[in-house]
Amino acid sequence: MRIKLSNPRGFCAGVRMAVDIVDQILDVTDENEKIYVYHEIVHNKHVVERLRQRGAIFVEDIEEIPSGSVIVFSAHGVSPLIKKTARNRNLTCIDATCPLVTKVHAEAIRYAKRGWQILLIGHKNHQEVMGTQGEAPHAIQIVETVDDIPELDIIDSTKLAYVTQTTLSTDDAEIIIRALQEHFPEIHSPPTDDICYATTNRQISVRMEAPKANLVLVVGSKNSSNSLRLTEIAKTAGTPSYLVDDVSKINPKWLQGINDILITAGASAPEHLVVEIVRHLVDNYGGELVEESNVDEGMSFSMPSSLTNFLQHIEITVKGQKS
Ligand code: SF4
Repeated sequence: MRIKLSNPRGFCAGVRMAVDIVDQILDVTDENEKIYVYHEIVHNKHVVERLRQRGAIFVEDIEEIPSGSVIVFSAHGVSPLIKKTARNRNLTCIDATCPLVTKVHAEAIRYAKRGWQILLIGHKNHQEVMGTQGEAPHAIQIVETVDDIPELDIIDSTKLAYVTQTTLSTDDAEIIIRALQEHFPEIHSPPTDDICYATTNRQISVRMEAPKANLVLVVGSKNSSNSLRLTEIAKTAGTPSYLVDDVSKINPKWLQGINDILITAGASAPEHLVVEIVRHLVDNYGGELVEESNVDEGMSFSMPSSLTNFLQHIEITVKGQKS
């Protein structure tokens, strides 16, 4: 069995930043101080479990958090209403929203301020889509599939723009965008693509490599949009594909008669999970790793000012206590 690792795979810059933020806060805070995270920091059960073990408390309702606590907003972004509720509860807010999600929020705000209607292409119940829609709920309608287009309530198609969720399949998004352009020829597109570099790069690699494999394993959690899209892309390429959280989720039946296996990982899946799967295949199925490099995508995001302010405040408090 030949094992090929798709390239690039795994953590993107936004996920690295968000996870680092929670780790850094846990590093400097007293173990008695509770650190809350609104929603899963990234959609990966192993990442969330590790941070939970370190003391982070994940919540889905801001009202559950005691007044005066520290709250981290997840990489998917939150609506202004969530931020306001947190401020009203006197929470110290640290924003781990990926800057590429913030860019989509900014586009939505800009169009809404002009009095335009906005079509948000994305998955209705996804945390990112809910956050973006919350920027201008009166102006934004969600388009999940082309079937939603006839139901749209459009007042003036010359004042209409679309934005997209960052983690869509580029192929699916293209189909919806083309259909929108047919219905509304004057629809305005965002200045740059909203689907992020990490989603695009991982999809390009799987689209290219999946047809050469008999099986594609995608490491990621079920609620990870970009991981699910990778599984779909491999299937569309004609290769059976499964989304697995870790090595324990591999069904031995999938591996029967398999000569070439491609492994990739969604943007929120840590590399050690890929390594464990490779070891398992080498040790138990005579697997041979034919390519393992992982390209450096050359992207990193600086820490948000809300974190640096928080860390400075901790430092000043500690110094004050010592003097
Ligand atoms: S997948 Fe893209 S948008 Fe999402 S956190 Fe990573 S870089 Fe940001």
